[in-house]
Amino acid sequence: MTRPVTAELDLAALRNNLQVVRRVAAKSRVWSVVKADAYGHSLAHVWQAMSATDGFALLELEKAILLRDGGWKGPVLMLEGFFSADELPLFDQYRLTTSVHSNWQLKALAQARLRAPLDIYLKINSGMNRLGFPPGQAAAVYQQLRGMANVGQITLMAHFADADQPEGISDALVNIEQAARGLDLPRSLANSAATLWHPQTRHQWVRPGIILYGASPGGDWQDIAGSGLQPVMSLRSEIIGIQNLKPGDRVGYGSRFQADREMRIGIVAAGYADGYPRTAPDGTPVAVAGVTTGTVGMISMDMLAVDLTPCPQAGIGSPVELWGPQIKIDTVARAAGTIGYELMCARAPRVALVIKH
Ligand SMILES: *Cc1c(COP(=O)(O)O)cnc(C)c1O
Repeated sequence: MTRPVTAELDLAALRNNLQVVRRVAAKSRVWSVVKADAYGHSLAHVWQAMSATDGFALLELEKAILLRDGGWKGPVLMLEGFFSADELPLFDQYRLTTSVHSNWQLKALAQARLRAPLDIYLKINSGMNRLGFPPGQAAAVYQQLRGMANVGQITLMAHFADADQPEGISDALVNIEQAARGLDLPRSLANSAATLWHPQTRHQWVRPGIILYGASPGGDWQDIAGSGLQPVMSLRSEIIGIQNLKPGDRVGYGSRFQADREMRIGIVAAGYADGYPRTAPDGTPVAVAGVTTGTVGMISMDMLAVDLTPCPQAGIGSPVELWGPQIKIDTVARAAGTIGYELMCARAPRVALVIKH
């Protein structure tokens, strides 16, 4: 391997974060959410480090099959269920728990020929208006499901739009309670934010995603700084070029940055085609040889520039942390106008993985 950009995955941090979730939600079982290839961490490389979980939740059928073929025998929850009726034989073969959120899925389930009943997550629309049945229909949908030979255990499922926001969850809880009335069903409601900050939502199964990877659901690292959660992914590279600028010299596309003094800058082998956000402004934090400095100029496809003023000892080959334990992904994301989720998921295939066991 020649180009020095890598995504280092700290599996000890991943194990630690699952234990943090266990401590926080001690009475609940845990669906570890591993959609989007484990939030960009590569499911194939990380799932075994999470095998102390109670189940895996995701929505890509081929990745569910990867878990089964890899030897995972525990529950697998398909968060959006089947996308068409012809997937049901695979749900049956691989024993996948399926969310059911729409009437067409009820019909497909009723008509499928399965070897054994499937466990069902009855998805209620809590007010987010993405997927799910209206709360007022929950009882009728439950009765339909209960009458089907293809249906095993039924769990009530809902999702929160604002568990990390000041708005909170009270409106959603009204809808969920309306749906649950008269149905004595186990519940799975809580994403990461609700798991951490809304204890009353934990119930039988929590569904954390982002906190397992060591980033904040709300986008601010400070919100989880005292929780014991640790970043799992570090995006690393090296300095591959040096430029000495005079006052007035410019850097990068669009000449966005202009030096107002003599300064030394380093060119780092990482750009937006690696998953580093092009929207990062000048001064976005970067660590060079352990010293925090900032970007200068527009992020290119394959390179970005950093101010070496605070680290005069740095030179060609100096290690660069773009995010990781020192530079929190939440901080980079916030500077770039996005959230840690998007940056993790955007790790490009050309960024080699380095697994730290
Ligand atoms: C992605 C997802 C989660 C996990 O969300 P986080 O904010 O990453 O904890 C939980 N439930 C559902 C239905 C999801 O789609």
